[in-house]
Amino acid sequence: MFLVNEVFQTIQGEASYTGTPALFLRLQGCPVGCPWCDTKHTWRVAPEHAVAISVMLEKQSDAPTFARMTWQDLVDTVRKFQARHVVITGGEPCCYDLTQLTSELIGLGYSVQVETSGTYPVCVHPQTWVTVSPKIGMPGGLTVLPDALWRANEIKHPVGREQDIDNLRVVLRGANPKALVWLQPLSQSRRATALCIREATTNGWRVSVQTHKFLGVR
Ligand code: SF4
Repeated sequence: MFLVNEVFQTIQGEASYTGTPALFLRLQGCPVGCPWCDTKHTWRVAPEHAVAISVMLEKQSDAPTFARMTWQDLVDTVRKFQARHVVITGGEPCCYDLTQLTSELIGLGYSVQVETSGTYPVCVHPQTWVTVSPKIGMPGGLTVLPDALWRANEIKHPVGREQDIDNLRVVLRGANPKALVWLQPLSQSRRATALCIREATTNGWRVSVQTHKFLGVR
């Protein structure tokens, strides 16, 4: 059973799939505790916040409510939208075993992406595109798992200062060497952007900006 915070169609604004129309499945629950998290309403699973699937699907703004859904419910929901790319995000989606859900969707011809902090085992179909945004030293006390870094197709790292680059270098020692590396300037500040461009240029990495924010879409 999946606890689903929201389902919405937009474009993927970040990293390799930038510009791709996508259906986002946001799952409830995350114990990582990043201070800058912009989805804090997904952290807690409070039984009193459970709602019907129909109510969750009509949600128009951030809220801690969620619906209980089986993988069949989710596949049926995905099929009602037009987007052919499905992004499973959170919260921390890898709190859930995503093997069956990703397999069913890929079997139906969808491309599937999972966005994870790397702190839980990544249980997905082999063709799933895995984006790891490694959360190091966060208040939740979880460590980034070597297996998650090895499974990553891309590593997307928020960067605000030099220390973030140093942390990334440590992470990359255990990561899949074929993984694309994206630096994401925190808050698109001038300083962070300049740092990202410099380091991407020097190291053969890339810069990812949150294009959906420039476009004014979710
Ligand atoms: Fe928020 Fe993601 Fe960090 Fe969880 S891992 S606290 S959802 S930014």
